[in-house]
Amino acid sequence: MKNNQHAPANSGGSAAPKYQKKFYFSRRKYCVFCKDRVKLIDYKNYKTLENFVLETGKILPARVTGTCYYHQKQLSKAIKRARHMAFMKFVEPKRG
Ligand SMILES: [Zn+2]
Repeated sequence: MKNNQHAPANSGGSAAPKYQKKFYFSRRKYCVFCKDRVKLIDYKNYKTLENFVLETGKILPARVTGTCYYHQKQLSKAIKRARHMAFMKFVEPKRG
């Protein structure tokens, strides 16, 4: 007689632990301006531009905000214009 040691055992408790479902999806980055179908980013609506600028005044890179190449170019120009028109501040060094 053969020793059937490799026979599958009908042991309970082998169920894989169920992971709790998370109630959020990984947010996909998208271009805000493409979504709103903005053709030209105006430097005068500085309030929207401020979302793409750090507290220090630095322009956030596209890989952070998710804006596309086309709009990031326009955005950076618009921010620079807004700075000259004193809507926004220039980059200032951190204090402390
Ligand atoms: Zn875009």
